[in-house]
Amino acid sequence: MKILIINSGSSSIKFQLMDMPSEKLICSGLVERIGYKNATINYKANGENLEQTHNIESHKQGLKRVVELLLDPEIGVITHTNEIEVVGHRVVHGGNSFSDTTLITSEVKEKIQEYAALAPLHNPGNLEGILVAEEIFPLAKQVVVFDTAFHQTIPAKAKRYAIPTSLYEEHGIQVYGFHGTSHQYVSEKAIAYLGKENSKIITIHLGNGCSMTAVLDGKSIDHSLGFTPSNGLIMGTRSGDIDHAIIFHLVNNLDYTLDDVKTLLTNQSGMLGLTGHMDLRDIQVEAENGNKDCQLALTMNAYRIKKYIGSYAAAMNGLDAIVFTAGIGENSSVIRQLVCEDLEVFGIHLDNTKNEKRSGDLREINADASKVKILVIPTNEELEIAKQAFELVN
Ligand code: AMP
Repeated sequence: MKILIINSGSSSIKFQLMDMPSEKLICSGLVERIGYKNATINYKANGENLEQTHNIESHKQGLKRVVELLLDPEIGVITHTNEIEVVGHRVVHGGNSFSDTTLITSEVKEKIQEYAALAPLHNPGNLEGILVAEEIFPLAKQVVVFDTAFHQTIPAKAKRYAIPTSLYEEHGIQVYGFHGTSHQYVSEKAIAYLGKENSKIITIHLGNGCSMTAVLDGKSIDHSLGFTPSNGLIMGTRSGDIDHAIIFHLVNNLDYTLDDVKTLLTNQSGMLGLTGHMDLRDIQVEAENGNKDCQLALTMNAYRIKKYIGSYAAAMNGLDAIVFTAGIGENSSVIRQLVCEDLEVFGIHLDNTKNEKRSGDLREINADASKVKILVIPTNEELEIAKQAFELVN
């Protein structure tokens, strides 16, 4: 069965075509800068890697271009759109309504729209992708996997905020959690690797967005992002945890509007606010060259992660493994080293040589004597979506 996975962002569409249940990747690609001049399409199939620049004004145009590539007589991989039986969509915010993968109905679409207020950077683009795919693949089953679903198991003591109960009951203000498909995928891999169903694992997803999950016996029991994907760790452009009174101070005494504060904390803070760079590769190079701001930002970033490791080890009353994943987690030995140093009290001992080795597979980078396994596991949100979509329709 051919399943097309679509991860549609505000100005991008990531896609993968997979054969299931063999999990064979048929082709993959990315449309970026939709709505801007010089949108780019990257398309990989049969060992070919094609990069094109187009004027793509909408998600519809973008997805149509993708379909043209899929059908192309030379580099295409299908002969008719009907060959795609299922389209699996990633949606960031499913609120309290969805704990499982679900078939798309008009009610589901309404809910995604409703939750756009809580994930304005993500849900509108996700919904756009669904509407366009329904038009282009009218016979395919459309399935949605929510980033929030894996976190539905977080207990009340961790998901509630200490604000009046009515705000939770009437307005759903609580921790929802994000990057759920990634945390689920890597924690399942870690459990299989450890060979231990009853396990205490901390998954650390460090990409453009960053988050950590305490995974007890395969279930999310606490998570660093909250009501929206804003708090917790220091991210590329998001501040993560701050004292909320800073917001009052900015508005009351420094002439910020609420919109200014939102832009500040969402788009101008994090590693960008600290260093002027948002890509960790640039920050690492600058730090090596002696840039003090970049050195401090790396230390702050790792220190925040350490604090969450400590609190999640306490929440689970023990720890079997920590897992690094996503762009930074998989690639930055510098961040992994800064995070793991001086955590011997928790039984965490890094092997610096193993940490420096590069590979695209699951790898163990702890010292032999380490009580806690330190794993690097490449995430694959698209494969997780394909697996869940396949399970749902079969
Ligand atoms: P993701 O959201 O998972 O695609 O991760 C994107 C982020 O990963 C980028 O913003 C980079 O900062 C970071 N990244 C990617 N490759 C590397 C690398 N080799 N070293 C350090 N950071 C990296």
